[in-house]
Amino acid sequence: MPKSPTWIPLLLLSLCTTPGCGEQARAAPSTLEPHPTPTVVAPHSPSPIVEAPPVWPAANAPLTVAPVEFPKGFGRKRIYLDAGHGAPGNGGNTSVTCEQEESFTLRAAEDLARRLEATGHFQVKLSRKPGQRPSYQERLGEAERWRAELFVSLHSDSRGEATAWLGATDSWCLRNDAAPGYSVLYADDTSEPLLSRRLALARALARRMGEAGLLPYGGEDYVGLYASDTEQPGTFVSRHRPGQRIFVLRKPPMPSVIIETHHALDFEEVARWREERTLESFAAAVARGLVDVLAPPPSTDL
Ligand SMILES: [Zn+2]
Repeated sequence: MPKSPTWIPLLLLSLCTTPGCGEQARAAPSTLEPHPTPTVVAPHSPSPIVEAPPVWPAANAPLTVAPVEFPKGFGRKRIYLDAGHGAPGNGGNTSVTCEQEESFTLRAAEDLARRLEATGHFQVKLSRKPGQRPSYQERLGEAERWRAELFVSLHSDSRGEATAWLGATDSWCLRNDAAPGYSVLYADDTSEPLLSRRLALARALARRMGEAGLLPYGGEDYVGLYASDTEQPGTFVSRHRPGQRIFVLRKPPMPSVIIETHHALDFEEVARWREERTLESFAAAVARGLVDVLAPPPSTDL
């Protein structure tokens, strides 16, 4: 038993002498600690000293790869997976490392398609392959002819006030580390039953991504463009004015959403999306969300 009940907190405080110490929320893990730091409780102290868990997209923030369970009779569902942008004159944003959004979405969509198909319960059609630049009208026509049950479009976001930094060799890129997180977008300018099915899809995907450990974006920079859903963090409804509305949110006759997987100007979040673990967790989350909305209703047989 320690003779003095106060030495432990004093020692902890004395460690915090370097610049930046204390800014733990987004800090990289210390390379000096090969093992997790145990929680330290000062004897007789009214409040324990607990290390704040790392928050996404910190390098040590954990992600879960949740098991995907397919109910009996689920079968094999047809998912149209759009690798956002890559259309004529439309390359999307340029990331904090100067990568074009159309390159990221193609990479992420190819990976997600492979993982979904590997479950044996999804048939996935990708909107484009390397070198192809189909228009959005062509993508929608293909999805309809193929009788896709859902239309899911992958994007990365570009938000808020960014500053220039030397993000790639000899290239100045834009950076903003203040607004990380994913968002799932839908439009409500349609009638039932499509409206409820769009909303259910958006909420299910956002919920499952959050359960995986990804961070739902708060929507601070969306004012006038998207409004937060009242029930599910990370879900947003389009508030674009007529003439500026998003084609893939309002045109498809099957339920459609956009997943903004992350903030393309956030340095740490872009780094996390380069990791296999992130792609694996994301795919499991998407699969679970798809099962949520596509599972047959429970049998009423007794
Ligand atoms: Zn985009």
